[in-house]
Amino acid sequence: MRFSPRSLLLAATVSSLAFSLGCVGAPTASGSTTAAASTTTETATTHTATPISTASASTSTSAGSLTGRTIVIDPGHTGAWTAKWGYHKVSDGNGRTKACNSSGTATNAGYSEHAYNLAQAKALAAELRSRGATVLLNRTNDSTRSDQLCVNHRADLANKNSADLLISLHADGNLGKGHRGFHIIVSTVMHGGKAVIAKSKTLAKDIRAALQSETSMPRSNYIGKGTAYSFRSDLGTLNFAQRPAVMMEMGNMRNSTDAKLFTSAKFRTQAAVALADGIEKFLG
Ligand SMILES: [Zn+2]
Repeated sequence: MRFSPRSLLLAATVSSLAFSLGCVGAPTASGSTTAAASTTTETATTHTATPISTASASTSTSAGSLTGRTIVIDPGHTGAWTAKWGYHKVSDGNGRTKACNSSGTATNAGYSEHAYNLAQAKALAAELRSRGATVLLNRTNDSTRSDQLCVNHRADLANKNSADLLISLHADGNLGKGHRGFHIIVSTVMHGGKAVIAKSKTLAKDIRAALQSETSMPRSNYIGKGTAYSFRSDLGTLNFAQRPAVMMEMGNMRNSTDAKLFTSAKFRTQAAVALADGIEKFLG
């Protein structure tokens, strides 16, 4: 390899801080359409599809409440990010183009969104597995390069495995004073069609109920007018999904109260249990 892991990580960290506005980015007025045809190859670079099917998952006697279910978790963004790797245009699944991956945001103290997303994903995976589910993750470490996991491929694992659902984990980077809380994004143009969109809305409702009753993270006070829902058509991660899918913005990293929660392992566990409860309700 041309770079040492250390220098890659360092570069990624610096970039994250430099581009720490927003998370998935607000819908844009379709700006540049010089779509250099997706350079991402869908090679079998195993981009980190990590079936859990270890002994515990295959013990048929584990009568977990989610036994027989397959759930894909997408930890948003990647640890190794550069503008070159992240900003080339790919299809957004809705007739336009979108950056392969943005860097994601960070707390004011520098805890990156990609690291939080991964930590939260691991906590959720552990919780779901303890209930018997088969869990697949789009990435399992924080060194994946952004061009290895562009937004137009983040639904692949769920589609190929006919997963019961896809949950993408993010946290927002909103600079508005006092802006905090979680919101849930549902696509209005999913490749799975109307039935899958309807199911995704139900999934969002079930997760919202669990998060608000079981965690200390409130509904967003700046997105969704109190509903904590956001309906969008520009997110490839969701648009390409043929299975029920939601994108979580677990809170606002730029808010100091939310940031304290994100950096707490106790909160991440609490949130993982709540997310799993919402998922279980949906699948029940
Ligand atoms: Zn994000």
